[in-house]
Amino acid sequence: MSILRVENLTKTYPSAGQPLTVLHEVSFDLAAGDTFAIVGPSGSGKTTLLGLCAGLDRATSGSVWVNGIQLDKLSEDERAAVRNQHVGFIFQNFQLLPTLTALENVLVPLELRGQRGATQTALELLDRVGLAARANHYPAQLSGGEQQRVSLARAFANRPAVLFADEPTGNLDPDTSERVVNLLFELNREAGTTLVLVTHDLELAAKTQRTLRLRGGRVVEEILASAK
Ligand code: ADP
Repeated sequence: MSILRVENLTKTYPSAGQPLTVLHEVSFDLAAGDTFAIVGPSGSGKTTLLGLCAGLDRATSGSVWVNGIQLDKLSEDERAAVRNQHVGFIFQNFQLLPTLTALENVLVPLELRGQRGATQTALELLDRVGLAARANHYPAQLSGGEQQRVSLARAFANRPAVLFADEPTGNLDPDTSERVVNLLFELNREAGTTLVLVTHDLELAAKTQRTLRLRGGRVVEEILASAK
């Protein structure tokens, strides 16, 4: 069953001079449990593509289906509901609720589900990402890498169908980076979460089943694990 399907996705940004098309007819189809990396030089459209797949922005043309739901037919509110229900994020600039502590951020999805022992579970998840000692810190009191790890703990709490991560190892030291990568793939194995990773880290990309290489907003190559 297709968990994320993207068909002929094109994105044009309006601009003062000439409109700028940054994605050209990108298509792919991921099944439940797939692991997928999007690579390419800076400015090639990776983050734009991730935002469209996650329903954070709308394509100029083309379609996106998440868990069989066609996003481009939905209102802003309806897309937000799909995100809350099916999607997890590890984004540099779009992640934690700033008015809640790390612990509370992880607690939200557990409490929404009415899970018993939610606080204990949330603390265990923070411990798993190495942040038990930061449980009562607010996002602004955490480094970018720590915020990313709280997002990861929240994703474990949420067990989303698809997890989108933008440069998940981008600003982490090698040890933390290894820990985050291991956790991402544990989430994939334990919860069957489909991983969609934008990364410059070719070692990380090599661990996924499929890699899409973008250049100038076009797919220039798709590499399957068997060929890696
Ligand atoms: P990457 O993630 O591969 O670095 P991006 O998706 O961030 O690439 O950007 C692709 C292109 O789109 C770049 O030329 C960037 O300047 C442009 N771009 C991104 N967001 C906007 C926006 N909101 N308005 C106009 N241009 C944008």
